[in-house]
Amino acid sequence: MSNQELFKKVLSHAKEYGFVFPSSEIYDGLSAVYDYGQQGVALKKNLRDYWWKAMVQLNNNIVGLDAAILMHPTTWKASGHVDAFNDPLIDNKDSKKRYRADVLVEDYVGKLDTKIENEVKKAAKRFGDAFDKEQFISTNPRVVGYKEKGDAILKRLGKSLEREDLADVKALIEELEIVCPVSGSKNWTEVKQFNLMFGTKLGASAESATELYLRPETAQGIFVNFLNVQKTGRMKLPFGIAQTGKAFRNEIVARQFIFRMREFEQMEMQFFIPPGTQKEWYAHWKETRLKWHHSLGLGTDNYRFHDHEKLAHYADAACDIEFRFPFGFKELEGIHSRTDFDLSSHEEYSGKKLQYFDPERQENYVPYVLETSIGLDRLFLAVFSNSLQEETLEDGSSRMVLRLPAVVAPTKVAVLPLVKKDGLPEIAKSIVEDLKWDMTVAYDEKDAVGRRYRRQDALGTPFCITVDHQTLEDQTVTLRHRDNMAQERLKLAQAKAQINETISFQNWLRAL
Ligand code: ATP
Repeated sequence: MSNQELFKKVLSHAKEYGFVFPSSEIYDGLSAVYDYGQQGVALKKNLRDYWWKAMVQLNNNIVGLDAAILMHPTTWKASGHVDAFNDPLIDNKDSKKRYRADVLVEDYVGKLDTKIENEVKKAAKRFGDAFDKEQFISTNPRVVGYKEKGDAILKRLGKSLEREDLADVKALIEELEIVCPVSGSKNWTEVKQFNLMFGTKLGASAESATELYLRPETAQGIFVNFLNVQKTGRMKLPFGIAQTGKAFRNEIVARQFIFRMREFEQMEMQFFIPPGTQKEWYAHWKETRLKWHHSLGLGTDNYRFHDHEKLAHYADAACDIEFRFPFGFKELEGIHSRTDFDLSSHEEYSGKKLQYFDPERQENYVPYVLETSIGLDRLFLAVFSNSLQEETLEDGSSRMVLRLPAVVAPTKVAVLPLVKKDGLPEIAKSIVEDLKWDMTVAYDEKDAVGRRYRRQDALGTPFCITVDHQTLEDQTVTLRHRDNMAQERLKLAQAKAQINETISFQNWLRAL
């Protein structure tokens, strides 16, 4: 399956099996807004829990918070979002389509990356076992050329954005001869800045209403509560505050399904530290977060770090953890060393002190902050697209299987009576009653058992328990495994123990 075909399959599978629907679909949908269906909501919740357990439950110096979506409007002055939360946009005069200028350039560099990957694949085939990937990448003239070109382009883009030199961003697009993907023309407008925040109003009458913004990130709810949590929780530095919740951005280029949405969910953690220790904490959180991603078992080759050339106004170091989505490597999580920018700025705008008395240093100061910020919807897409596989079986037939990590699968086990008579449904239902206290269980008695297995494969259910006539005699059941379709005959208690072992958070997170 090519990447494009895979991406199409991801979209149709997500819809067909109740994972993701376009929002308000009966009115033809709303661009870049999506609803999660009966399966999707469970997968999303399990992913959120997987993050929450790793960040909050396993760290006694990290606590949770649930701040409101609506915040005092001055928050967004202080955070810099009113003045600087802009994307550089450019229009194609022929197609009338609008693009993010930086994304056009990055996509161009993405194509160079694909060329490098193709060269590596070809060489790997040619040299067989003797192939040394690192050496090839650093010495092959064509690959080195692509790499140097890509790096130079990104460097120039970073510098121009930092200087707000939008004319140079346009010049870069022209020099690279980037064409509009829709019209194929190079007939571009100037590059302009566009603020991404959604405005709304609070209050009943038009005159007295206050202009508000829907929060574009969850982080500011944490900063304005820094002292509340620190004091009431008697927290000592270093400590973290974690939060999950909705954020809203009026994205210019809203495509690629749930990768870039106008309403999405973030999972953020702000780690408050003494000034001067940010380098070591930055390294610590980079490593810890990458390990967490690896623990999901999607393949370590599918992740890479991307260090930022252009730093946001608040950061002294920043990188992304990128994931290999069906449309290439893209940002999944950001790790930012935010200095004391946010707390100092809120001090200035609110006139309230946001400081910490350090008993060891015997002084008051504004803490520095290390942030980890991941989009839950992007994580969902990473897990879902990576897990969806089409397999040809020995008999020549094919099956769609969603190899979700068992720990986050919406349903852990489906209980199936082989036939709908002879007391088998009753036994199967009693097994559901027994298991449902500890895990999500489905019951299915419709169609031939082979078709029911396929349906559970497509939903990502890691196990099926089948009840047949032998169960009546010796209380054994068949435990059927999603990934290799193996079946084994076991006592129910043994099957239960095996399932519990496979879905245990502890076993998955042990790698941390
Ligand atoms: P991008 O460069 O892709 O626009 P960003 O750098 O603006 O992303 P951050 O502000 O660092 O993103 O937000 C942190 C995380 O929130 C991102 O790593 C991403 O996973 C998620 N995120 C940001 N914007 C969106 C969006 N429009 N839809 C879905 N997830 C998003």
